[in-house]
Amino acid sequence: MKKCIFCGKTETDFDKNNIFTEEHIIPQSLGNETLKLFNVCKRCNSGLGTYVDNYFVNNMFVKMIRQNLGLKGQSGVIPNAFTEGKNKDGHRIRVDENFHPTLVPHIEQSGNTIKINAPSKKTAKKMIQKKFSRLNIPEK
Ligand SMILES: [Zn+2]
Repeated sequence: MKKCIFCGKTETDFDKNNIFTEEHIIPQSLGNETLKLFNVCKRCNSGLGTYVDNYFVNNMFVKMIRQNLGLKGQSGVIPNAFTEGKNKDGHRIRVDENFHPTLVPHIEQSGNTIKINAPSKKTAKKMIQKKFSRLNIPEK
């Protein structure tokens, strides 16, 4: 009888939502299509995906290798290891697929002065409302 190598449960122990699934020994997003185990239950496989594979394949250095080799993730997109960073002023920047950087909207507070960097007045207004709400300051 088949037994999950992680939790030790067999098919007779499973509820209808837990079944045996394909476990890729090396994550699929690293190009592994053939090295698989078939004695891992869906629940354990999901936990591995969330708590192990996800952190590993999204590590910046692993992403750089995936990007360099053109290894697509499950979404079919080649990852960009440099999607987010900081500029010389310490502000967060994002980079799109064409490597065009944009400043991540943010609020700077220095004493009674608040400086907002946002892509539109509408976004800036929402950001300031949220900031005032957190500080318990009436909007007007
Ligand atoms: Zn299991």
